[in-house]
Amino acid sequence: MAEKKEKSPFSDPIYKQLSQLNGKINRMGKSEVQAKLKELRLDSRGEVDVLKRRLKNFYKQQKLKKQETEKQLKDARCPYNFLCVIDFEATCEGEKVPDYPHEIIEFPAVLVDTRQKAIVDTFHEYCKPSLNPQLSEFCRSLTGISQETIDGADTFPEVLQKFENWLKDRGLGSDYSFCIATDGPWDMGRFLHLQCQFCKIPFPRWGRKWVNIRKAYTNFYRTKSYSLVPMLELLGLKFEGQQHCGFDDARNIARIAICMLKDGAHLKVNERIDWNSLTKKGESESKDSDTSESSNAVTAALSDITQDGINEDANNATKSSDLTLEQVLTELENLGVDPDIQGCESVLLTHRLQQPKDEESV
Ligand code: AMP
Ligand code: MG
Repeated sequence: MAEKKEKSPFSDPIYKQLSQLNGKINRMGKSEVQAKLKELRLDSRGEVDVLKRRLKNFYKQQKLKKQETEKQLKDARCPYNFLCVIDFEATCEGEKVPDYPHEIIEFPAVLVDTRQKAIVDTFHEYCKPSLNPQLSEFCRSLTGISQETIDGADTFPEVLQKFENWLKDRGLGSDYSFCIATDGPWDMGRFLHLQCQFCKIPFPRWGRKWVNIRKAYTNFYRTKSYSLVPMLELLGLKFEGQQHCGFDDARNIARIAICMLKDGAHLKVNERIDWNSLTKKGESESKDSDTSESSNAVTAALSDITQDGINEDANNATKSSDLTLEQVLTELENLGVDPDIQGCESVLLTHRLQQPKDEESV
């Protein structure tokens, strides 16, 4: 039998593109190369051969980086390099005040590398509110944020700028793809939306669509909609830190996202703001309320955008749902999969059983 021909490491079309680019650079004059280097914000000093080498190397690195990024994305069960988990805290009153003008007072972000399946960076700032600069007793006790912290904080537009610089410094949105992830629709759909209206600033592009972890969780594990603590408990995890501290909430949401990625969930955008039907309807509903009635009210201006992805996960989950917890555990043991069962319910284990082992995807 004829031996299978070894594929050359340079057979990738990327090398053909590079060779064409190099040919083009070879034909360029010095001033043309200098102009290109300046346009790319690269050093344009030196002899023509040095300049050409610099330009060729730049393109080579760019292409290879892109290729590596694409390969990593293909391997990971998430179409983004990073998930950026945000959990805003906002001014509030104890009793439900209709149309309460919530202002963001805590802005945390936790960056999850979807391939490493780990938290790799964080952002954390407080914001000084302007409509209600005095925090209510209820708000201070709920969020653990003191009046002094708020008094010494930057305004929301300043913090937003800091956050966007943080994204930019990490190449998020340029070299690397990322998507916002939140627990429910409220952070982008209510708090950020209201805040941008109050400050008369444009709604940021990155906040227009996001992964609603709670929704993804419900669909993936086939459970009813739970708030943060029960979602963790169902996975056998405990809340770490202080509930309603935005930074701790965000870290715990990130832990859920990581667990879901390890379990094989396809975390991708599943909600976005529907600008056409955006109304204030439901914005006065309490965030903590888990009733579908209030969720629907808030999400009236939002849209599901990945029904296919959701159904895909949901369908996978039905295959061995007849098994008892004991049978599932035995099956997992036979397969050599660490069931990580502490506190888990059978529905979660059943789902875990249907997923390929994590190493297979790496
Ligand atoms: P959370 O992420 O659950 O900590 O909530 C975010 C924000 O929603 C809080 O900072 C409050 O502004 C508001 N919030 C949460 N729970 C309540 C509640 N029980 N009553 C009034 N406002 C609340
Ligand atoms: Mg919170």
